Amino acid sequence: MTTPLTHQELTDDELLRYARQVLLDGWDIDAQLRLKSSRVVMIGAGGLGCPASEILVRAGLGQVHLIDDDVIEASNLQRQTLFLPEDIGQPKATTAANKLKQINPLSTAQATVARLSEDNAYELLNMAAGKPDLLLDCTDNFATRDIINRISVRFQIPLLTASAIAMQGQLALFEPHLQTGCYHCVFGSVVLDEAADERTCANSGVLASTTGVMGNLQANAALQYLGLTKNPLTGKLLLWDGSQMQQRLMGYRQDKNCPICAV
Ligand SMILES: [Zn+2]
Repeated sequence: MTTPLTHQELTDDELLRYARQVLLDGWDIDAQLRLKSSRVVMIGAGGLGCPASEILVRAGLGQVHLIDDDVIEASNLQRQTLFLPEDIGQPKATTAANKLKQINPLSTAQATVARLSEDNAYELLNMAAGKPDLLLDCTDNFATRDIINRISVRFQIPLLTASAIAMQGQLALFEPHLQTGCYHCVFGSVVLDEAADERTCANSGVLASTTGVMGNLQANAALQYLGLTKNPLTGKLLLWDGSQMQQRLMGYRQDKNCPICAV
């Protein structure tokens, strides 16, 4: 991962706040330090981004950077857990970052109100300061997912992508440097299919619990990846079905003809 741990330690405040976590079997001070030294860029501060960022910041993530160009609407309050009625009309990214700072002042939360594109990615991801440790795709449409996937492959940044529609969700963690496949390898041309792109929360609906579950599963995978340097979803797509209370894993491999990630 990023920073060597030898020159760091947890402060008394951090030891107190994260006491229940460092007690865990399989999660120790080193895992907590790795999480503290990690920088995560999240694209989308809505239904998935709210729960995922809140859990990561509560757990002790060092730096989170939220990128979103949207403003809060009344219809967001049903599932976007960081927002209150008085936040309507405010930008999601800055409002969420302010809430995260209140929730855990020991973590750094940054916001950019903008739409991520391939053209502005280097600047928005602050690549001059070094690569983020992880990208979190918390968006709600296939076109943006495709752009984020291209950015992940181009800059070789791991991508943890989640989706939530109706009562179903999906989760995958791609590691471009390992050549094990990307979003396009799994979903192929569906990402460029206009009909598929129409399946968003805005027009298909989403149960409040679906984004909550998927955002929390996303945080669960991110914590393991950042703290334990372990990808719990290597080569596997997680499929969650809320109506049946079922979860299953589906294997995938890199498409050797993938136009995005195959060399
Ligand atoms: Zn690919």
